[in-house]
Amino acid sequence: MTPADQPIIPPRQRWRVSIPKALWPEFEDYIRQQHRSFLLMTNLVAALAFASYAVADHLLIPDMAQASLLVRGGLLVVALLDIWLVFRRSRHVLLMDQLLSIHALIATTAWFELLRRSHSPDVPTFLYASLTFVLFANLGVRVSFKGAVLSSLAISLVIMVNVSLMNPHNDKPLLVFALVYLPVLLFCLFMSWSATNGVRRAFYASLEERRQQQALSTLNQRLQRLASTDALTQVGNRRAFDLQLEEDWQHLLQHGRPFALLLVDIDFFKPYNDHFGHQAGDRVLAEVASAMASGLRRGQARVFRYGGEEFAILLQVRQREELQQVAQRLLLQVAALQIAHPHRPDGLPFLTISVGAAQADDAAMRHASELLACCDRMLYHAKQQGRNQLQLAAAVDALQHH
Ligand code: GH3
Ligand code: MG
Ligand code: MG
Repeated sequence: MTPADQPIIPPRQRWRVSIPKALWPEFEDYIRQQHRSFLLMTNLVAALAFASYAVADHLLIPDMAQASLLVRGGLLVVALLDIWLVFRRSRHVLLMDQLLSIHALIATTAWFELLRRSHSPDVPTFLYASLTFVLFANLGVRVSFKGAVLSSLAISLVIMVNVSLMNPHNDKPLLVFALVYLPVLLFCLFMSWSATNGVRRAFYASLEERRQQQALSTLNQRLQRLASTDALTQVGNRRAFDLQLEEDWQHLLQHGRPFALLLVDIDFFKPYNDHFGHQAGDRVLAEVASAMASGLRRGQARVFRYGGEEFAILLQVRQREELQQVAQRLLLQVAALQIAHPHRPDGLPFLTISVGAAQADDAAMRHASELLACCDRMLYHAKQQGRNQLQLAAAVDALQHH
């Protein structure tokens, strides 16, 4: 396939739209999807039409009426069997495309056998019905113009040889026939040429449409990612957090799927910024975010930048103990970064975080905003209690405030 950001340009040819080998399998799929039923229908219609000419035979070459019934009936059975084999069994695209031409060639040969044996005075007129063979051979072609040319030439040869065999001592009937026949043949070939080129152009257009759709959906995904990612820390942004919190809350209400919220705040980050500068502060924010994200199990937790030096984590947990373990691990992971912070008022040498957490399936909470408020209180509590610690809401903590 062509890369999604490059348009598909069909080869520019004056006379013929070609399909490169590499695209052929896709082209075949396209034909099977778009033209299989048309090809099937034209084959069936042509087979039935050929059989129905038994009536014309009966009227115009009555001495061959019986033979005609036999030949046409037999050929109809064979044709239906072929159609079944090709369209149901093999689904080979070129066979589907050329089956009607092959049948037309056989039918031409068979019909002239009847015509040559007849003594009816109508034979010279009836002869002109052979135009239908080349017509049918070309009307159903959608894939191979070459095939159409070859079969049309073969059918024409059979017709001409037979017409000349039927008039061994007189060239005029053959000449008149040829004058009528040739323009029809050329017109038929033109139709095949135009139809096969049209199909190929439509195939390229469908490829291009698919490519554009792919490019658009890739772009959409990229935009979605951008719109929900915090540029500095590469974790989810506030917008993504608000949406996810609401979604998790709805899941809890509808399916009873429990989750927990953790609010994380970097301790004494203002003095860090004041002493090391904002750029150093930014690096620390990214480092802390990535340490927290990598320590959490994907699918179980998502980290967001809530604002400034605060992060929010949504965690799928059932047990309070599990929540406690995850939160404690976060504290350790950030401390383990050993980011020197010599200017903390409390004398600790490294950068730390404080965490306030609560479980959403607390019976006392009726809104996602209550969960957020509860975590905020817990975080405040953690700061008050000396920072670098977790405060986990007990069911009563949540209850106390309602
Ligand atoms: P506490 O332990 O009570 O949370 O103290 P603190 O200094 O961390 O809290 P405070 O709210 O006083 O200061 C937060 C600081 O975080 C203020 C600002 O310098 C810093 N900060 C907020 N957003 C950014 C940011 O995007 N980049 C940088 N470098 N610093 C930021
Ligand atoms: Mg803060
Ligand atoms: Mg802070």
